[in-house]
Amino acid sequence: MKPTANSPAEVRLNNVSFSYGEAAFEFDVTFRPGRVTAVMGPSGSGKSTLLNLVAGFEMPASGRVLIGERDVTVDPPAARPVSMVFQENNLFAHLTVEQNVGLGRSPSLRLTDADRTAVAGALEHTGLGGKGRRLPRELSGGERQRVALARVLVRERPVLLLDEPFASLGPALREDMLELVAAMQEERGMTVLFVTHQPEDARRISHDMVFIEGGRVAATGAIGEFFGGGGPEAFRRYIGAS
Ligand code: ADP
Ligand code: MG
Repeated sequence: MKPTANSPAEVRLNNVSFSYGEAAFEFDVTFRPGRVTAVMGPSGSGKSTLLNLVAGFEMPASGRVLIGERDVTVDPPAARPVSMVFQENNLFAHLTVEQNVGLGRSPSLRLTDADRTAVAGALEHTGLGGKGRRLPRELSGGERQRVALARVLVRERPVLLLDEPFASLGPALREDMLELVAAMQEERGMTVLFVTHQPEDARRISHDMVFIEGGRVAATGAIGEFFGGGGPEAFRRYIGAS
């Protein structure tokens, strides 16, 4: 059965090791199904690497990456039940908003009626109704990030990977986007891995926290344990410095 957003999936890195030359990573961590987990840690600690291992852009040297019951290490990125949003939104400049979102359903843009309905719904949902025929350059930065989110919405995958998706946006737009993600997540019960440098963004939408340092998970827990002076010392030092 094809996994859907209606069946939240646990994401588990089971004794995963990986390296980029000198930079070595050991991840052994579980992300609880149907929850938002903030992934925080210093620059270069391995947050993007962790997400890339889940998405399939990198392959572990050893260990397993499980999504639900399935070990996905053998599956190419397109076959994994995940969607990813990056800091740079990677829209195609020569395609309209509608087409960019349609790519989430069909990489060849051969859209069925059901696909078109899903695209229209996602544009409505993200406040882009009426802007479907525009090109990315005819949109604001915040609107372009909404297009990237709409493309993720139409994919209907149970796992959402967010790699600092709002880092380049101002506070008001960031707030809008957080609200959108929180609403989407609540509606669909997706499992979300949310990399952010902004403690207040993490607190705003996350249930759990995974704190990474030096290529390893240094601490995990409910989000509330990490704020108000809580969390391990390394975490307090990190948010104090960020
Ligand atoms: P973060 O997202 O936490 O800032 P990354 O996962 O991007 O950290 O990077 C972790 C470490 O791996 C860094 O030392 C970085 O220089 C290195 N690294 C990341 N991507 C690559 C790559 N494609 N090739 C070589 N080294 C990389
Ligand atoms: Mg990164």
